Amino acid sequence: MRNNILAGNWKMNCDLPGTQSLIAEIQAEGIDNLDCEIMVAPSHLFLYAAFNASLNSPIEVVAQNVSQHHKGAYTGEVSIDMLQSVGIKTVIIGHSERRDIFKENDDQLRGKVSACIKEGMRVIFCCGEHLDERNSGNHFKTVTNQVEKALFQLEDKDWKQIVIAYEPVWAIGTGETASPEQAQEMHAHLRTFIENKYGGKVASNTSILYGGSVKPANAREIFAKPDVDGGLVGGASLDANSFVQIARSF
Ligand code: 13P
Repeated sequence: MRNNILAGNWKMNCDLPGTQSLIAEIQAEGIDNLDCEIMVAPSHLFLYAAFNASLNSPIEVVAQNVSQHHKGAYTGEVSIDMLQSVGIKTVIIGHSERRDIFKENDDQLRGKVSACIKEGMRVIFCCGEHLDERNSGNHFKTVTNQVEKALFQLEDKDWKQIVIAYEPVWAIGTGETASPEQAQEMHAHLRTFIENKYGGKVASNTSILYGGSVKPANAREIFAKPDVDGGLVGGASLDANSFVQIARSF
């Protein structure tokens, strides 16, 4: 059995009052009987405040990134220990903005994933192709390569801590969404890829989320696809009403 999950990636948005008020607004929308896990990923700086604001509600506060190093001379970095010390149990790894803007490569991402799994963190691992890769027919290969390089060192048991988010880069923040069929096709391909290495049980228990211009108007159709187990939402997660409408789309 795998869970439906809706995660809001707030990226570099919301200051401290904005973080606290967005959480309060999401709670005020009424989220007690959703058919999904609900997560938000604010800035590292406000994780502790967000964690406190979310106590006694179904919202799980998660991190957008983490260092693969445990401690020491890594200026500007945040460790797994630090996240755990403020109540964080889940982290997004390998977002295309981390890969493209901050040049995180497969080796680093594998290191981050391994460190998180070892320390008991849950990982939302992002993968996705650029437009030129899709146009040249290389999108399946690109995405399975990303998954293989960062996740295939894991053991079967580790997969309980893994969620995959397929985010085609050409659909992020562009208003252009992959069609439900394109999302389903890639998710099914990924699940088969995982099954070939780890077997049917691991593959069918792994939640695979779709990300890229998800909004209330398209969420239901995308989430209805059999291999789409939820969403990783950017822009629309910054509006409480839109985010909760999406959460009601399962
Ligand atoms: P948008 O929903 O703004 O397209 O962003 C998707 C995303 O990058 C979530 O991680």
